[in-house]
Amino acid sequence: KSLGIALVGLGSYSTYQLAPALQDTQHCHLAGIVTGTPEKEKIWADKYNISSKNIYNYKNFDEISNNPDIDAIYVVLPNSMHAEFCIRAAKAGKHVICEKPMAVSVEECDAIINACKEAGVKLGMGYRLQSEPYTQQVKRFVKEKTFGDINFVSADAAYRSGGNPDQWRLNKALSGGGALMNMGVYAIQSAIYGTGENPISVSAQEFSTRPEYFKETDETITAQFEFPSGAIGNISTSHNFNANAMYVSGTSGWFRLNPANNYGPLSGETSKGDVLKFPHESQQKLQMDDFAKHVLFDEPNIAPGEMGKRDMMIVEAIYESIAKGGQKIALDFEPEFGFGG
Ligand code: NAD
Repeated sequence: KSLGIALVGLGSYSTYQLAPALQDTQHCHLAGIVTGTPEKEKIWADKYNISSKNIYNYKNFDEISNNPDIDAIYVVLPNSMHAEFCIRAAKAGKHVICEKPMAVSVEECDAIINACKEAGVKLGMGYRLQSEPYTQQVKRFVKEKTFGDINFVSADAAYRSGGNPDQWRLNKALSGGGALMNMGVYAIQSAIYGTGENPISVSAQEFSTRPEYFKETDETITAQFEFPSGAIGNISTSHNFNANAMYVSGTSGWFRLNPANNYGPLSGETSKGDVLKFPHESQQKLQMDDFAKHVLFDEPNIAPGEMGKRDMMIVEAIYESIAKGGQKIALDFEPEFGFGG
């Protein structure tokens, strides 16, 4: 059995990453599409041999409940549309993969998680790095204390953004925020799997160099975390500069990845002189196969909805800290967030 996936939103990520990756997956395949742009229907149908009964638009989307070819819906729309389509997918009885950031508020994350629970469907986040070998090596280093007890992590996830001033990422109603909602989620994730802990506090700062372009959304944010062990973390995210790295220091050494969060291959080295080397495979392929194995063979869900919600709780705390002039905001994660990865 192979999981039939329908992509909702055929923008650049679906077009250039997810659909090509679905040609190489072992446990899932591209079974359908949902698009608001009629011209894309024929292009995708021809390219990927998708039958017309598996093509939907945003209006007739709910009829997908009657379609046995489609087991899971992958929501790849602008951030503020994730909640609506994840919930509609769950109500249609389909498993759900939600792109990052999970939604634009913690409240919406809860609504998605509850809808999936009520419908008895599985929910996974599009956190491709969780399935990626360098990232998994980071988690092993931390778990096995290869470099002692971790006492510091820094993580940067940023790129210089420009171009169309009407793009949805600059529109707060559609994006929910700027760099933090976009790349910041990767820096938050790196800080957490770099220490193996969820933070207990965050303080944050915002910087702006092009207010005429970033009218509604944050351009650059830095934040500092405290972790239960006493480790501290420092992250940056930006739509102004380029940065793509993580560095972790422990009581007996350090390791780093650079790049740490692009589509790969990533690259890394350690204080022992080791250069990390893993064969390159599409991260999206690995991620979708991991989700399919969770659904089909009951393997662990390595990027559950709760992880997306945890990260959104941190995003909200960062915005709260900035609104309060950099004040330290306490975070208190329940045991359900115990994965610390
Ligand atoms: P995009 O702008 O290329 O595509 C967005 C799609 O949504 C388009 O097909 C567009 O037609 C459709 N859409 C529907 N309603 C819209 C509206 N009101 N305004 C604008 N577009 C609308 O964006 P993208 O880069 O493909 O990003 C889509 C989602 O995927 C985002 O949540 C983003 O964060 C996520 N993403 C994740 C990764 C990753 O590495 N995991 C990479 C890129 C994007």
